[in-house]
Amino acid sequence: RAFLTNIEAANPRLNAYVEVTGDKAIAMARASDARIASGTAGALEGAPLGIKDLFCTEGVQTTAGSNMLRGFVPPYESTVTANLWRDGAVMLGKLNMDEFAMGSSNETSAFGPVVNPWKSSGSNADLTPGGSSGGSASAVAADLCLAATASDTGGSIRQPAAFTGTVGIKPTYGRASRFGMVAFASSLDQAGPIAKNVEDAALLLQSMCSFDVKDSTSLDIPTPDWTQSVGQSVRGLRIGVPAEYVVDGMPAEIQALWDQGIAWLKDAGCEIVPISLPHTKYALPTYYIVAPAEASSNLARYDGMRFGHRATGTTSLTDLYESSRAEGFGAEVKRRLIIGAYVLSAGFYDAYYVKALKVRRRIAEDFDAVWDQVDAIVTPSTPSAAFALGDKQVDPLQMYLNDIFTVTANLAGLPGISVPAGLDSNGLPLGLQVIGKALDEATVFQVGAALE
Ligand code: GLN
Repeated sequence: RAFLTNIEAANPRLNAYVEVTGDKAIAMARASDARIASGTAGALEGAPLGIKDLFCTEGVQTTAGSNMLRGFVPPYESTVTANLWRDGAVMLGKLNMDEFAMGSSNETSAFGPVVNPWKSSGSNADLTPGGSSGGSASAVAADLCLAATASDTGGSIRQPAAFTGTVGIKPTYGRASRFGMVAFASSLDQAGPIAKNVEDAALLLQSMCSFDVKDSTSLDIPTPDWTQSVGQSVRGLRIGVPAEYVVDGMPAEIQALWDQGIAWLKDAGCEIVPISLPHTKYALPTYYIVAPAEASSNLARYDGMRFGHRATGTTSLTDLYESSRAEGFGAEVKRRLIIGAYVLSAGFYDAYYVKALKVRRRIAEDFDAVWDQVDAIVTPSTPSAAFALGDKQVDPLQMYLNDIFTVTANLAGLPGISVPAGLDSNGLPLGLQVIGKALDEATVFQVGAALE
């Protein structure tokens, strides 16, 4: 009830929730009380969570931030959310997001932008909470839930976490089932939590992850108890600092934050190892070919026939497809679909899509080559602090630059966490990212907790 009260007070301004499921929350909380009373409490018993609106929730509208899915009520539950409910968590409602998770500022949502609860000391402008999981990050930062689910295709958990002073982790590809998650780019999409601290993130993530026969890329391996890694000494760990993550035009404050984090780890007994990940400069262009290509294929299902928005008054089947998609999708989604269809088209497939897959392999091999020298890699999470809403909306390329430090982990399938590591001169939170070996979330949590 405390969280529902907070939501009522702050959501009209923040626009973090697109739907509040108050009655359901109270019913779930009562069931939690009963399990606690009978001594059968789960690991997350009674924990009130917000759910990013791309996780299908049985009987509760799931829109992925799009007019295309307005009114879509899934008849089934995503595996990730089912796992959370199995462990006793309580659903407060569905959280706003960029349309189909395409964006870095939450401004592409059909439900309007989300506002960051943080303000710059230098201006009164409303700031973005980042995206695409902007609703999740804003809600956690403003105490409109204890923690939230989110998803990360190119940084959508880590960048919003960095912009709001929260913790967000994307696990190794295949740890969390994609069943019941509205698909964006299937070879990159992973679910993960946004939480107030590293320990909460570990608790949440170990509940969310599981082997699932309903996702063919799900890994059939046990999920460790990651809470054990939180607070463990980092003495003796080898921390890689990649030269290529120093990018042109990076604000001095970001470099200073990074240096600070490296100094903390050194003081804690880590060995700092300069490394090179030579194909890093190709990561953004590679991502912005692979992700739209997969999106153009995944979003072909929204044809106005099977489910989702259907145009009325059309004169032919083709007209119905075209009008339904023209009306249902927003501008950024259309931009991605056009790019995706282009790079997959017969004349350009080899030049763009196949080339991007080859470069993606090189980027993964860069990481493979350093894992015998380092146990984890530390970088800034983002090239800047939260920016004002509206600032980058006009220039998609400027917006895409937000993902410069985060897309590599998705392309290589590696786990990455963003932890709050300080404030900039305007009092805004900045995040540091820890990238780990495949399946080594344990070290990612261990180093993340040392930086927190
Ligand atoms: N900002 C990136 C994009 O727009 C990443 C989004 C995401 O991780 N879902 O594609």
